Amino acid sequence: MAGVIPTDPQEEAAQGRVALWLTPEDLGWLARHCCCPEDASPEEKDRCGRLRFRASTALHKHGRSD
Ligand SMILES: [Zn+2]
Repeated sequence: MAGVIPTDPQEEAAQGRVALWLTPEDLGWLARHCCCPEDASPEEKDRCGRLRFRASTALHKHGRSD
């Protein structure tokens, strides 16, 4: 699927990331939810975009049959 980057648990751990277990419903909410105020800093918008991207990636991964 274009645009979806598969995540490798070992690679993620090597980058200092930890797994976050959420229901598909929560992931879906997170993927769509932007709560940045009008005057959010670029860092805030960056983090928000990153979180939503990761949530949608996890959601797509969950939806795969393998
Ligand atoms: Zn936001």
